Amino acid sequence: MMTFEQRLKQKIAEQKKSLALFDIILQNIDDGISVLNENGELVYENEEAERMRLKYFSLNARIHDENGKSLHLRELPTFTALADEQIHKQVIEIIKSPKSSSVWLRVKAVPVFNKHNTLVYVVGTWRDVTGRIMEEKRRNHFIAIGSHELRTPLAGIKVLNQVLHKLYQEGKYDKALNFFSKIDAKVNMLTKIVQDFIEVEKIRGEKLEFAPESFDFADLVRATVQDLNTIYTSHTIELHGDTHIMIIADKMRIQEVLNNLINNARKYSPHSDKIDVIISHDDKTITTAVKDYGVGLKKKYAAKIFQPFYRIKDPSIEKVHGLGLGLYISYKIVELHGGRMWLKSKIGSGSIFYFSLPRVIKKTKKSYDF
Ligand code: ADP
Repeated sequence: MMTFEQRLKQKIAEQKKSLALFDIILQNIDDGISVLNENGELVYENEEAERMRLKYFSLNARIHDENGKSLHLRELPTFTALADEQIHKQVIEIIKSPKSSSVWLRVKAVPVFNKHNTLVYVVGTWRDVTGRIMEEKRRNHFIAIGSHELRTPLAGIKVLNQVLHKLYQEGKYDKALNFFSKIDAKVNMLTKIVQDFIEVEKIRGEKLEFAPESFDFADLVRATVQDLNTIYTSHTIELHGDTHIMIIADKMRIQEVLNNLINNARKYSPHSDKIDVIISHDDKTITTAVKDYGVGLKKKYAAKIFQPFYRIKDPSIEKVHGLGLGLYISYKIVELHGGRMWLKSKIGSGSIFYFSLPRVIKKTKKSYDF
C-alpha cells in the first residue's frame, strides 16, 4: 500500500505530465492562444500568439475593423471581454506600414470565471484569415467589375431592340435588317465577357483543360488575320514572315491569344489604321509579334497589365471598354503551353506584344496532361 507521501508524489507527477501534454498541444496548433488576467496582464501565450504579437502589433501598425473603422488596441476583443465580461468575436485588419500589405486576423475572446463568478482570465484565440478575406475581396471585385461591364452591352441591346421594334411597326424592313448585326455584335461582347469569366475561374482553380493537336502555326495565324480583317473595318492587319511550322498545342486557345492581342492592338490605337503581325522562328521556338502604332504604355505598367483585372487609368483610353482579363488569360494560356509572353512599348508610338511557343510542347510542371 502506498503512503500518503507516495500518493501525493504520484498525483504531482501525473499532473505535470498532463500539463506538459497540454502545453505541447497549445504550442502546436495553428491558432494563437493568449491569456490575460483580470488586470489585463498577459499571463500566457503560445508560440503562434507570440509570433503574431511581435510581427503584427508594432508601434506603427494601424488596426481596422471589417468596415475599415480605425481601432485602438484597447478596443480589441480581448480587452472588451475584460471590460464587459462577455464573449467577443471580430475580424481585424492590421496594416504594419503604409507599404506593407494587410493581414487579417479573426479574434475571439472568452471570459473565464472562478466559482464566485468573478472574472479571472480572458482567453483569446487569434486566427490568420488573410487568405480567405483576400479570396472574398477578389470575388467581390470580380462580381462588381463583371456586372458593370455586362451592363454596357445589355443596355445597347435594349436600345437596339426598341429601335428595331419601331422600324418594324413603321414597315421599314430594309433599315431594320442592319440592326440585327448590331445586336449580334453586342451579344458577342456579352458572350466574350462571360467566357473570360469562366476562363479566369478555371485558371484559378487550375482546371483549364487543353485539347492539343498538331497543326500548321502560320495557317492558323493567316486564317485568324483574315477573319479579323473582315470584322475590323478600322484597321488593316498585315501578316509578315509566313513560315510553315507544325506545332502541337490547343489550336482554339492559341487563336484566343491571337484574337486578344490583335483586338487590343486595335482598341489601343484609335488614331492609326494598321496592325502588323510578324511570325519568326528558330529551331526551338516560334514567335509571334503583334505590333500596333497606338497609345503605347509606360515601362512601369509592363508587368502589371498581365495581372487579372489590371487596367491602366489614362485619359487617352478611358472610353475603351474592357475587363482587364484578356492579357491575363493569354499570358496563362501561353505559359501553360510552356511558352512566354512579353512586350516592348513606347508611350505615344505604340506597342509590340510577343509570345513564343515551343515547337515541341513538353509537359510543364503543372499537372496539365498533354
Ligand atoms: P482590357 O483591354 O479588357 O482592359 P487586357 O488584359 O487585354 O484588358 O489589357 C490590360 C491593360 O493593358 C489594358 O487596360 C490597357 O491599359 C493595356 N494594354 C493592353 N494592350 C495594349 C496595347 N496594345 N497598347 C496599349 N495598352 C495596352
